[in-house]
Amino acid sequence: MTEHMYRIGLDLGSTAAKAALLDRGDAIVDVVLDTSGDPPDRVAERLVGTFRDKYGFREAGVVATGYGRALAGLAGKKVTEITCHARGVRLLHPDCASILDIGGQDAKAIRLGSDGGVEDFAMNDRCAAGTGSFLEVAARRYKIDIAELSAFCGDDPGAGPDTEPFEISSTCVVFAESELIGLNARGVPPREALRAVHRAIAKRVVLLLKQVSARGPLYFTGGVARNATLRAAVASASGLEPRLADHAQFTGAIGAALFV
Ligand code: ADP
Repeated sequence: MTEHMYRIGLDLGSTAAKAALLDRGDAIVDVVLDTSGDPPDRVAERLVGTFRDKYGFREAGVVATGYGRALAGLAGKKVTEITCHARGVRLLHPDCASILDIGGQDAKAIRLGSDGGVEDFAMNDRCAAGTGSFLEVAARRYKIDIAELSAFCGDDPGAGPDTEPFEISSTCVVFAESELIGLNARGVPPREALRAVHRAIAKRVVLLLKQVSARGPLYFTGGVARNATLRAAVASASGLEPRLADHAQFTGAIGAALFV
């Protein structure tokens, strides 16, 4: 078997595709994000091509993970997301005991053993109300960019001093959005309504953490991990302090590269 200088991991997620380029010493050379929404096989070709052009190599080993992995014809191997996330996070944070990963369409809780292996995991890919898609629907309603949402809501996800605390209780994003419309009609300020959205998501993902008996140190991964308000909401609902993982959106891709 040929030993390539570089290893590429592709995480073909449901909302974003991520690629990581590692050298043979496990150093992360580069990462690239693609949110084009193109079919996974095309995105995979393009991401590998981007690295090839930038770093001037002809071939590299490629391993794919994520929702669209089956369609990545150029990948030598396909590995499940849970396994890749676990391996990627442990490379970056050897002390990691549990992982919370929230993406655009799903959420996962993973408990690791002392050897870094997956001891237990739970996943929600049925109910959008516990995922990034609820944040996106809510942010869109108030015309706020998803990347600006946590700056708008602040680090304290609790109800503000001038507002009675209220909760969004629907487990389905369609009904939850109706609740949001109702709050709007009652004159609840956008910031308070959006904080309630963060609390509602935290409540759902805490169920996943409980299901796997998650313990600290807990690392938060996935695109949604970048939202500081949600990190604070998860901390207050779970009693665990989630730490933002390095390369949070790329840990699956990094883990996949380690399987080359
Ligand atoms: P998937 O693997 O399911 O495709 P990702 O882990 O790549 O998902 O996360 C994508 C989600 O991350 C988006 O749907 C969006 O909600 C969220 N997101 C992306 N960028 C940011 C940001 N800067 N701040 C907060 N959330 C973000």
